[in-house]
Amino acid sequence: MLYSQRPLTEIAWRSPEVFDAIVVGARCAGSPTAMLLARMGYGVLLVDRATFPSDTLSTHYITPDGTARLKEWGLFERVLATGVEPYRGIARSIQGFSIPPDRSEPEAIAPRRTVLDKILVDAAREAGAEVREGVSVDGLIVEDGSVAGIRAHRGEDAFEERARIVIGADGRESFVARQVNAPEYNEGGGTTAGYYTYFRGFTHDGPELYLNDGAAHFVFPTNDGEVCVGVEFVAERFKEFRGDIEGNFRADLEAFGPLAERFRRAERTSRIFGLAPHKGFYRKPFGPGWALVGDAGYYRDPLLGQGINDAFRDAEGLTEALGAVLAGRETFEVALGAYETARNEATFMLYGLTNLLCQDLNPSPEVLQMMMSGPPAPAPAG
Ligand SMILES: Cc1cc2nc3c(=O)[nH]c(=O)nc-3n(C[C@H](O)[C@H](O)[C@H](O)COP(=O)(O)OP(=O)(O)OC[C@H]3O[C@@H](n4cnc5c(N)ncnc54)[C@H](O)[C@@H]3O)c2cc1C
Repeated sequence: MLYSQRPLTEIAWRSPEVFDAIVVGARCAGSPTAMLLARMGYGVLLVDRATFPSDTLSTHYITPDGTARLKEWGLFERVLATGVEPYRGIARSIQGFSIPPDRSEPEAIAPRRTVLDKILVDAAREAGAEVREGVSVDGLIVEDGSVAGIRAHRGEDAFEERARIVIGADGRESFVARQVNAPEYNEGGGTTAGYYTYFRGFTHDGPELYLNDGAAHFVFPTNDGEVCVGVEFVAERFKEFRGDIEGNFRADLEAFGPLAERFRRAERTSRIFGLAPHKGFYRKPFGPGWALVGDAGYYRDPLLGQGINDAFRDAEGLTEALGAVLAGRETFEVALGAYETARNEATFMLYGLTNLLCQDLNPSPEVLQMMMSGPPAPAPAG
């Protein structure tokens, strides 16, 4: 049986050399998790094999829920200061029906991951977490059936660190999840593939999303006057598209009426990034001595965005649960079980809608109805 019956507070071997938590992965899920635990006064080690600032494979439209959390954490102004505009509402066109942006919506924002993730890592460090960049975790220390620490290296230097809990915030392919055999469930029924890049001089009036005839196109204005433009299509087209990425990307945008003219006039400023198909899943996000947050615990096709906000929400949910456990107010099983339930309840509607849409990117009248009235947004915590 994987799951410990012991509350973390009863673990006997805590010493000054033992962190309360080690967080593996320092982007949208890991840094806020480390920051929030450190703000509660816990001893946290945050590691990532990446160094910051650095990019990652992801566009970066943050929904109003995510923006609200950045405000709550005192980080929104820092993001704005990087030269990115907030927006209200997204212009959508679905199977020919245009839905104008709802300007009464709260602010959304689309900062590059190079700037967002750096702000998040710095906030964790400022909160008191020890941050080690350029560190790869390549093993977990397991004692009496419970995860008790990490084995890691930076360059030639290998080291071990111990903690009361090891948190995998290490993305979809999570090393931590694989090491503990975290059970997966509710695998998604559909997935897309796609490509995106950045332009200067691409005129816009805020974010745009088009879903027509088996393809989704999107436009996200981002930092420094640049605009992220991309296309997603059914997974089956991935091989053919990959055969000539430059040619197919150009042909696709030139053939797509709403973007074609603006595309011709704009200057491309980056390489084209590709997204291979990956089905969605949920993972059991806790067990003896370990927990998962962000994509490590729940992955959905990026068609409707949401991953960054999901990571923020789950960072809050997990740290609240761990705070209760570490303070001795709740048992590990009960608190982390509630975290899993809240995560699943907040996401299952949008997960289902994403999977339906991804199957052929030709929404049925029922799916269209759901989208026209606006997909249900996960509720902000608290
Ligand atoms: C093409 C694409 C477009 C997307 N567009 C959007 C969008 O517009 N809006 C949105 O909200 N979401 C979007 N998403 C989803 C979003 O990118 C993810 O949900 C989000 O990045 C998850 O954050 P995370 O911190 O859980 O994981 P990640 O961002 O994957 O970070 C995991 C970190 O863990 C580190 N790591 C992994 N293994 C180890 C190890 N063994 N040792 C040390 N470090 C390790 C990695 O270096 C990495 O920095 C998109 C995703 C893709 C792929």
